[in-house]
Amino acid sequence: NLSNKLDRAFKTLKGQGSITEINVAATIKEVRRALVDADVNYKVAKTVTDKIKDEAMGRDVLISVSPGQLMVKIVYEELTELMGGEKQDINLKGDPAIILIAGLQGSGKTTFTGKLANHIKKQGRSVLVAACDVYRPAAINQLQVLAEQVGVEAYTELENKNPVQIALNAIEHAKKTNKKVVIIDTAGRLAVDEAMMKEIAEIKAAVKPTETLFVVDSMTGQDAVNTAKTFNERINFDGVVLTKLDGDSRGGAALSIRAVVEKPIKFISTGEKMEALDLFYPDRMAQRILGMGDVISLVERAQQAFDEDEAKRINKKIRKNQFNFDDFLTQLEQIKKMGDIKDLVGMIPGVGKALKDVEIDDNAFKPIEAIIKSMTPAERENPDMINGSRRARIAKGSGTDITQVNNLMKQFNDMRKMMKSMNKMAGTRGGLGNLA
Ligand code: GDP
Ligand code: MG
Repeated sequence: NLSNKLDRAFKTLKGQGSITEINVAATIKEVRRALVDADVNYKVAKTVTDKIKDEAMGRDVLISVSPGQLMVKIVYEELTELMGGEKQDINLKGDPAIILIAGLQGSGKTTFTGKLANHIKKQGRSVLVAACDVYRPAAINQLQVLAEQVGVEAYTELENKNPVQIALNAIEHAKKTNKKVVIIDTAGRLAVDEAMMKEIAEIKAAVKPTETLFVVDSMTGQDAVNTAKTFNERINFDGVVLTKLDGDSRGGAALSIRAVVEKPIKFISTGEKMEALDLFYPDRMAQRILGMGDVISLVERAQQAFDEDEAKRINKKIRKNQFNFDDFLTQLEQIKKMGDIKDLVGMIPGVGKALKDVEIDDNAFKPIEAIIKSMTPAERENPDMINGSRRARIAKGSGTDITQVNNLMKQFNDMRKMMKSMNKMAGTRGGLGNLA
């Protein structure tokens, strides 16, 4: 699936110093292929990946996260942006507000009508649902059952075969019975045809809906995009409802429909239960498409916790082999800001590697902090001057024992040795990105 493919693409980035150093083109190609495989329209996939490429190349690599992780974040941001950025609500102005439901047969219109009625009713507005699928008697009954289930009135006319008339009558009835919202469920065909398009266009022209929603089955892949396009050209809908996202569905449809018809996705439907209706959040969908929510929040938290200037300053010192106990202390502060997020510790330049496997809580740091704070400023800056008698004094001053001080000294010196050898290895390329 998509997330596996992207995962593989990003794995090739692992262990690279910075995004500019890696072969972005190969990664981008992999991302594009993965999107297309997930039924994202080819043109859309190309637009996305071109943007991602520009963005990645221009981004100053934050030394605290790996390029692979940063790439995930960039892809995620691009996808979110493409799906509209913010969530979009439906318009319920009007007395009554009229919501017209359109889409192919089996896409989930009637089910969605029930769910939306439930959703709106819970907001404290009275709702009437209208059964305008005149071709299948079972469809009318289906809506009646759902309406009863969620506790709203259903308007039906068993003998009337004119959906436009039924819709208008339903609106009259809503006014008389003081309903604030009317949801009009319509008939669909299995495939796009002129009769269906003509009918839905006529209903729309007659009822002048506040909001027209196009319902589409997310499992239908590329067809979903074509159907959306045809419906939009004919009835110029206001928003999209993406159904059956509970199945083995490709979230890719969300991306390409949004890009091709330029209309917001407003709801997603995730099951047959009346409660299984969600507002559409572009960022959540992007995470779903990527299947990498954890990585994204990881990078976000790292970015929040990190003072970027501070990270740059420390890295400069590491490069010059000047990392000292003051820097160590500063880095400890950063780690503490991250709380118990153990995964993040490894991202901290310098200290991270040494402390990666240490149980992280404030108490664990207390002796270390006490020891460093018992050093004189000169000692912190020049750790080499800390001889045996100084260690004894520091232990006493910090309320620790000499073993603890020795351990810290050893840890610190090992760390500096490692930094030195990394610097040698990196040579003139200065690739310190994965030092921590
Ligand atoms: P309509 O022909 O557009 O009115 O579609 P229906 O509402 O009758 O739905 C067609 C079928 O899909 C029914 O069996 C529904 O129970 C099912 N269905 C609708 N929405 C969802 C959904 O979000 N998830 C799942 N798994 N099934 C759904
Ligand atoms: Mg139906």
